[in-house]
Amino acid sequence: MSLKVFIDGKFLEKEKAKISVFDHGLLYGDGVFEGIRSYKSLVFKLKEHIDRLYESAHTIMLNIPMSKAQMIKAVINTLKKNKLKDAYIRLIVTRGVGDLGLDPRKCKLATVIIITDKIVLYPEELYKKGLKIITVATLRNVPEALNPQIKSLNYLNNIMAKIEAINSGSQEAIMMNSLGFVAECTGDNLFIIKNKQLYTPAQAMGILRGITRDCVIDIAKEAKIPAHECILNRHEIFNADECFLTGTAAEIIPVVSVDGRQIGNGKPGEITHLLMQGFKKITGKDGEKYKV
Ligand code: PMP
Repeated sequence: MSLKVFIDGKFLEKEKAKISVFDHGLLYGDGVFEGIRSYKSLVFKLKEHIDRLYESAHTIMLNIPMSKAQMIKAVINTLKKNKLKDAYIRLIVTRGVGDLGLDPRKCKLATVIIITDKIVLYPEELYKKGLKIITVATLRNVPEALNPQIKSLNYLNNIMAKIEAINSGSQEAIMMNSLGFVAECTGDNLFIIKNKQLYTPAQAMGILRGITRDCVIDIAKEAKIPAHECILNRHEIFNADECFLTGTAAEIIPVVSVDGRQIGNGKPGEITHLLMQGFKKITGKDGEKYKV
């Protein structure tokens, strides 16, 4: 069975799921998106993802031609159509089709796309061994220019950093903000553990406030691990006891080396494992249910 993609209320086979070359999402990266997961037919933190999508759209003055309830229904229907229990969901809203030129008023109606597919994570081995990552020269977008809290179709900033990581044979890149403090990775948030306390760059450092990040902070608090949203520099990362990244696709993945400096004992840490287990427990429990 060919995968079905939702485009503007219609389900199209993967091969036929195409949009216009005049879509401003393609022409200018004018649009917003979300990456969501379902576990055992439950869409994890769906409300939070939908809220973030609509907030991103609100800031860029993009009118999504569906209510949040309709969007939730459309996500669930797309999963049902594809008979997927454990899936990655890519929700995209572009400015729509319009003549050439930046003016968003050229586009009369936003395009809504929902892709559901199998998920590709980091290889299992890396969850056991941990990632070796680097910091890169490409700074995270300055919030005053393009706020990283807008999950926009403009990911070139992150792609430039990813290229630096790839060129250095590294699996991920840590991006700094314009003040030289740690912001986040190209598609994940960053955490460290020092003296049994959890630290992660605050929203004001210019990051996307990850939904997995919020989840991890909640799990830590429940486990009586103090969690701090703060300012972090490279020295503090290098000298952390543990380090890990969080994101919808990656979940929680340990980091064992940054810029050639070993983190802790060079193995995924105890508290990281505890949080990974805590996270596993809540996936497949929270979310909008759909029958496969
Ligand atoms: N930062 C960036 C830049 C991202 O693109 C993402 C999502 N892939 C994250 C952090 C993690 O966010 P979430 O936990 O909501 O997936």
